[in-house]
Amino acid sequence: MTGWYMDKVECVVVGAGVVGLAIARRLAQAGREVIVLEALDAIGTVTSSRNSEVIHAGIYYPAGSLMARLCVAGKQALYAYCRERGIGHSNSGKLIVATRTEEIGRLQSIKAHAEANGVDDLVVLSGAEARALEPELACEAALLSPSTGIVDSHGYMLSLRGDAEAAGAAFALQAPLISGRVTTNGFELDIGGDAPMQLACDLLINSAGLSATAIARSLDGMPLELIPPAYLAKGCYFSCSAKAPFSHLIYPVPEPGGLGVHLTLDLAGQARFGPDVEWVDQIDYTVDPARGEKFYPAIRRYWPALPDGALIPSYSGMRPKIVPPAVAVQDFMIQGPQAHGVRGLINLFGIESPGLTSSLAIADYVAEMIEPQQQA
Ligand SMILES: Cc1cc2nc3c(=O)[nH]c(=O)nc-3n(C[C@H](O)[C@H](O)[C@H](O)COP(=O)(O)OP(=O)(O)OC[C@H]3O[C@@H](n4cnc5c(N)ncnc54)[C@H](O)[C@@H]3O)c2cc1C
Repeated sequence: MTGWYMDKVECVVVGAGVVGLAIARRLAQAGREVIVLEALDAIGTVTSSRNSEVIHAGIYYPAGSLMARLCVAGKQALYAYCRERGIGHSNSGKLIVATRTEEIGRLQSIKAHAEANGVDDLVVLSGAEARALEPELACEAALLSPSTGIVDSHGYMLSLRGDAEAAGAAFALQAPLISGRVTTNGFELDIGGDAPMQLACDLLINSAGLSATAIARSLDGMPLELIPPAYLAKGCYFSCSAKAPFSHLIYPVPEPGGLGVHLTLDLAGQARFGPDVEWVDQIDYTVDPARGEKFYPAIRRYWPALPDGALIPSYSGMRPKIVPPAVAVQDFMIQGPQAHGVRGLINLFGIESPGLTSSLAIADYVAEMIEPQQQA
């Protein structure tokens, strides 16, 4: 390999999405020497820019799962961080709507499930009470989630980067990790891009999102049998040319396999619908306008006045799945030395939603895996 050799650094974080940024900030603020490697020429341009920007309450995840625990902790940390740093956010709340009488019972079971996750602020509303909040809403009953909100994910990521740099972290953009080796005292990494280099480190945090499993496979010394398979579930969004008359996020009662076609708002109040779920073999972010045809009837169940032709293909994101379609639920897989036996290596696999909400809590969790004795 051509290029130059850099002395050993303490910690390399691979990937400058919201999760890598939060981890880099956390470790740098703990006094560690951190270099963040990002394959592209800017931070946060992959899945962290292709999501709903929702601060999730933590309602649906299996009780005790990492998703449930880190979402609830991350939500609180994210609201506090946004308030402290003046990052755009809105605690808009969300309504889960039962549009058929037979769905009303589901609201109670969703509420009970949420309580097991520590989300104890959900309120069951009658149809009339829900319409007092959202007059254009069609529903038989609803569940109000007051702690759901939205965040300016770009402002948030810029702030994380700023904190990390202020604490001494360095960022190398256009610096893709190509391969690496586990050595007796850490790692040797081969980095590509315009200025290829080799780098040695003690700690390696693999937070490369959709590429995390491929990176683990390219690391000589990582047990291959412990790397989960990788699948892609694409989610398409449609924006709305009409002004949507809602101030809360609106979700139908979830169906098997997904949350249903829901309405989220950006901080300017612009509505978008989605994401839907399509299992795909490769990354392709184009949005097929034909997918919108399924959105109209689904949306009109709770917003009958949606005008014809109002939906406009917008953007899409890819969920980094580590379970196949037949498996309904996956959890975050955050793998440390106890799981794979490689000292100093943390792999973050399957960080799909609620990864944005959970990011600060994920960073704390990773820091605790590295420094359990200091956190106790
Ligand atoms: C459709 C959709 C909707 C979602 N909605 C929400 C939501 O509303 N709320 C919520 O909480 N979460 C949501 N999420 C989840 C959230 O977006 C993700 O969990 C989060 O963005 C993951 O961040 P990340 O840093 O792990 O990955 P990424 O943002 O993908 O970042 C990984 C980074 O690694 C870099 N990289 C890859 N390979 C290499 C390499 N070899 N060397 C160096 N760098 C590399 C990439 O370029 C990228 O910048 C959604 C996800 C999807 C797909």
